[in-house]
Amino acid sequence: MRKPKALLFEMSRSGRLGYSLPDCDVPEKPLAELIPEKHQRSEPLDLPELSEGEIIRHFTELSTRNFGVDTGFYPLGSCTMKYNPKVNEETAALSGFSLLHPCQPEETVQGALELLYKMEQELKELTGMDRFTLQPAAGAHGELTGLMVIQAYHHHRGDSKRNRVLIPLSAHGTNPATVSMAGYEVVQVPCDERGLVDLEALKEAVDENTSALMLTNPSTLGLFEEDIVAIARTVHEAGGLLYYDGANMNAIMGYIRPGDMGFDVVHLNLHKTMSTPHGGGGPGSGPVGVKERLIPFLPVPLVDNKNDQFFFNYDLPESIGKMHSFYGNFGVVVKAYTYLRMMGAEGLKQASGDAVLNANYLMNLLKKNYWLPYDRICKHEFVLSAKPEKKKGAGAGDIAKALLDRGFHPPTVYFPLIVEDALMIEPTETETKETLDAFAEVMTEIAKDIDEDAEKVAHGPYNTVVGRLDEVQAARNPVLRWEKK
Ligand SMILES: *Cc1c(COP(=O)(O)O)cnc(C)c1O
Repeated sequence: MRKPKALLFEMSRSGRLGYSLPDCDVPEKPLAELIPEKHQRSEPLDLPELSEGEIIRHFTELSTRNFGVDTGFYPLGSCTMKYNPKVNEETAALSGFSLLHPCQPEETVQGALELLYKMEQELKELTGMDRFTLQPAAGAHGELTGLMVIQAYHHHRGDSKRNRVLIPLSAHGTNPATVSMAGYEVVQVPCDERGLVDLEALKEAVDENTSALMLTNPSTLGLFEEDIVAIARTVHEAGGLLYYDGANMNAIMGYIRPGDMGFDVVHLNLHKTMSTPHGGGGPGSGPVGVKERLIPFLPVPLVDNKNDQFFFNYDLPESIGKMHSFYGNFGVVVKAYTYLRMMGAEGLKQASGDAVLNANYLMNLLKKNYWLPYDRICKHEFVLSAKPEKKKGAGAGDIAKALLDRGFHPPTVYFPLIVEDALMIEPTETETKETLDAFAEVMTEIAKDIDEDAEKVAHGPYNTVVGRLDEVQAARNPVLRWEKK
């Protein structure tokens, strides 16, 4: 809502107060006795003067300027921005969890240890892996943990020449970044015309230097890698391991498990799939699960149970060490555990089924007006190309701004890189048919606007609090507070 001019920006009025205090009833001391002269202000403090009501309105209004999943549809592909049930917050805020100190003796935190232990059992069941560490703080952190475990495994066998990790061209950007951070060389594997990993090219690329293949299935194109069994066999026969980027787990829960597809290491993004809030840099949680032969290399400590007592197990001589202070982001694990228990096995399966259904429904609505380069049944997300619109004068970034103008968060743009001017859309299971219809309607309007006046669309947004920002400056030199001129 636009504010009338009289209420814009400078709201302070001299003499207006937001408090009233009784008169001082103790003798006042001279200022010099209380604060040495050199520490006293020479000019009065220039504080805004407003009533309490105006201050409340000001901050409440500011708090709603940020777009969030609690305020609107957030189809940000690859991020799984689903609704975060509020009960997750309630459990994480229980004082028995939130007031714990990480240095408390084990016998005083048995409940928290039990939760970590049971969380691990849930994740094992869901993924088909044999053990998990809950330490990593995000997906990318999980990737690094997983690759270090793989590295330790190869080295422990005396197999130290494996210095390459294969990654398909459709991979998330964190994958190649993690590979080089772990000291490996990236080998890119192309996709075929279906958008899937090119099996022949993969066979060419694997050799005795292959440490692992990193893959997400479904891929960031939202497509299921149908040849996964052959892919796994190819890598394993060459002595390499398979790393599963589980950020796309929302598509497959309860239907298929990475452990059964042949993967040796998996990370999950609890902040995506298990509905804990994310965005703005965290906190997140990226647990890593492994098959039996890799357990000795997991970070310490693991949580185990002996004689009905839970304890931190540091007895892993081949461990890669610690990956996070203490035991990771415990509060996020509590939220995710709550989500898993509230949903149950059937609920999780339905969540994935509905996520896939919503994505296919929206994809079929949108492909009437936009180009869908890989036109096949998708999983939890799909990728359009705004290349035709760009030719007319307004591309993916401009469509994103036009969506902001109409109250929707834009999809992911310009990613994945193998689709030119990509619009990557992930509606998630928590959206209604009406919301999806409304989004499709707005996208149709934008397509029409581009046909009629692309130039105008290319200069939006027009209705948002701020217009088009210099995104490079905003990232490199953020101006985070207002300074009086
Ligand atoms: C989000 C994502 C990641 C990285 O996870 P973060 O928690 O953001 O570090 C990795 N791979 C895929 C496919 C993702 O969508």
